[in-house]
Amino acid sequence: MLSAVARGYQGWFHPCARLSVRMSSTGIDRKGVLANRVAVVTGSTSGIGFAIARRLARDGAHVVISSRKQQNVDRAMAKLQGEGLSVAGIVCHVGKAEDREQLVAKALEHCGGVDFLVCSAGVNPLILSVNVKSPALLLSQLLPYMENRRGAVILVSSIAAYNPVVALGVYNVSKTALLGLTRTLALELAPKDIRVNCVVPGIIKTDFSKVFHGNESLWKNFKEHHQLQRIGESEDCAGIVSFLCSPDASYVNGENIAVAGYSTRL
Ligand code: NAP
Repeated sequence: MLSAVARGYQGWFHPCARLSVRMSSTGIDRKGVLANRVAVVTGSTSGIGFAIARRLARDGAHVVISSRKQQNVDRAMAKLQGEGLSVAGIVCHVGKAEDREQLVAKALEHCGGVDFLVCSAGVNPLILSVNVKSPALLLSQLLPYMENRRGAVILVSSIAAYNPVVALGVYNVSKTALLGLTRTLALELAPKDIRVNCVVPGIIKTDFSKVFHGNESLWKNFKEHHQLQRIGESEDCAGIVSFLCSPDASYVNGENIAVAGYSTRL
């Protein structure tokens, strides 16, 4: 599926492993399970994407953050760099081809290759295009630089994929489509040494979900029904993404893993 699009992007691959640990952009020795790896995280200037970007960087990766608004990119960059983390940032609306190209170029600036792609952007009126098509298109652009590096792709779905919410129509469909996309890509990319898995958040406290957890009676019912003792935090999703990128998950492929505080399916 991706190969036709990807053919146009061959040719600049230089593994990061050739760089010494001292060559990270912060000038700090980078340690951790993801040291000397490069991660691209979309929709990563706030909420779940930001927590994932921070966690991957804390675990040693050089992380390229992005979202639609320059001021959000600047703010998130300042925060993460202030923590001594190795990050770069650029504006990227994942639905825009030219933005995706610039994101790819920014990611390649570090060492010419990319190990991890996390697609968290997924809140937009053009839901199917942003939630489903954009991860596939961005991956096709990055693919030549991700091959044979023991890399990983993580898509971010939603529990609405398993249990559709009546008011969310197309959003439910888009998140269910991501489960299918995960399994197809996992098959297709296994020979290139890239694993593809999917994180499925439940209710996580972000701006996006305010309409739900900000509605007292709705939230109370939901909590009681699932015996939830608290609301999820973005950081609850970040550790599992780091695990899925790490060598500990080298035999985990094509899976979807809920982070919801309750069991969502058999
Ligand atoms: P959020 O707090 O609203 O953050 C969304 C992030 O994505 C922001 O950084 C935003 O920055 C960026 N963004 C939005 N549209 C974008 C686009 N078209 N291209 C690039 N970046 C874009 O949302 P969130 O709750 O973290 O949600 C992240 C993901 O988790 C989504 O895929 C969502 O469907 C999924 N999810 C969330 C929950 C939940 O309860 N929060 C539950 C299930 C699934 P800019 O405004 O600068 O673009």
